[in-house]
Amino acid sequence: MLIVMKFGGTSVGSAERISQAAQLAIRSAEQGHQVVVVTSAMSKVTNLLIDSAHRAAAGAFDPTVRQQLFDRHKAVADALIGSDPVRHAAVLEAIGQRLDRFDKLCFGLSMVRDLTPRVLDAISGMGEVLAAPLLAAAIAAQGRASTAIEASEVIVTTDQFGGAEPLADETQVKAEAVLRPLLDRGEIPVVTGFIGATAEGVVTTLGRGGSDYSASIVGAALDADEVWIWTDVDGVMTANPQEVPEARTLKEISYSEASELAYYGAKVLHYKTILPAFRKRIPVRILNSFNPSHPGTRVSVEGDPAVNGVKAVTSIRNVTLVAISGTGMQGIPNIVAKAFDVVASQQANVLMISQASSENNICFVINQTEAPAVIKALRTALEIELHRGHIEDISGEQEVAIVAAIGDRMRGTPGIASAVFGALAEHGISVIAISQGSSERNISLVVKEADAATAVSAIHAAFHLDRAN
Ligand code: ADP
Ligand code: ASP
Ligand code: MG
Repeated sequence: MLIVMKFGGTSVGSAERISQAAQLAIRSAEQGHQVVVVTSAMSKVTNLLIDSAHRAAAGAFDPTVRQQLFDRHKAVADALIGSDPVRHAAVLEAIGQRLDRFDKLCFGLSMVRDLTPRVLDAISGMGEVLAAPLLAAAIAAQGRASTAIEASEVIVTTDQFGGAEPLADETQVKAEAVLRPLLDRGEIPVVTGFIGATAEGVVTTLGRGGSDYSASIVGAALDADEVWIWTDVDGVMTANPQEVPEARTLKEISYSEASELAYYGAKVLHYKTILPAFRKRIPVRILNSFNPSHPGTRVSVEGDPAVNGVKAVTSIRNVTLVAISGTGMQGIPNIVAKAFDVVASQQANVLMISQASSENNICFVINQTEAPAVIKALRTALEIELHRGHIEDISGEQEVAIVAAIGDRMRGTPGIASAVFGALAEHGISVIAISQGSSERNISLVVKEADAATAVSAIHAAFHLDRAN
């Protein structure tokens, strides 16, 4: 079997964790599988890189960051490969060179004071490039040949910096050329997560948390048999365990449930992860590197058809509810199309839409960071309608959250919506907007941000999600 396995930031967060990740990869190889590893940056490194870039561009270049990052990665090299001076020196050399580049880029930013998305990607993707040689060296030190590979040599993307899209055909050609020979030789390649490059070779990133996506992109490109996501919880759970301590691990979910969960805020999977795997029907497993004997969650076509109704509850914070309202709106042809053209022109991602059938109000939810530009663009594009009074207001409400109840078998199970609303009413939570996909796989609600945690717990309790079905 060919397995592409990805290790998240906490799973490679220290020498001990990297050693454990190496062991897990080797264990699968020893069972006779071919293994490609995809690694995240060590925990907190990406945040530090991004923060340093922003601070440098604001004129506060911090020359100590280079050393801080060097020390953290050197400590791992010392612990894991200190007894092999040749390998140790080679890894430190690679890390030093990459950090020199980081330092120069930040210094440059402090001069030009202009941080473009392209430069931000070049900097924010460096954490993975620092981690991969360490993990490859740890695997080699435990007796399996391993090579660190920069995904800019494998994953070909569009040039949407900060959220690039993979180009499947081009990626397949590169993955076959770069990774297949290593696999055929019995090596375990360690590929950097999160990054790719345009056809011209300019480094891009797939968006925050994107290493999960990298794993499924590489898995699809190589026609892998399975994609494994090693993280710090026992799999996909009925809710975020940090928010709902009673949350339980789901043994099996469908591709569509996994997509909906990830899309509606379950950080355990990057929201685009499922698609490449789904297209090739590659099963995905979510496993705990801190508890590897736990079977985790399996994502497959069938999911778990025995489970009825709601399977999990998620929430998305830091969003804005944009509302366009006015009693004269019925008279405006194509108002919906016009509004969403504007949203698209700002490249904003619409998380949820709700429209009253009277067309007196259209509202949709987008990320808070995108809201000011979208509202401004809407006011400009609909200036005449506003002036004539057909539209009375275009507003943005900030302190809201989306809460979503998700499950394939909600369809055909009567009474779900009323149970959701009943649970919220019992806690005195008012619902600001509602949307139910026609697939009936999810009901999403907008509530005040302050009510979100209670809403999630209330829905979780109402459907007894703490108990195995
Ligand atoms: P990694 O660094 O391994 O990519 P992440 O922090 O990105 O890990 O994702 C794992 C985290 O996702 C968990 O620690 C948990 O707090 C959070 N999480 C949110 N919702 C869920 C859910 N439904 N099931 C499991 N974990 C969830
Ligand atoms: N290191 C990247 C991030 O923190 C990608 C990832 O961890 O998935 O966003
Ligand atoms: Mg993650």
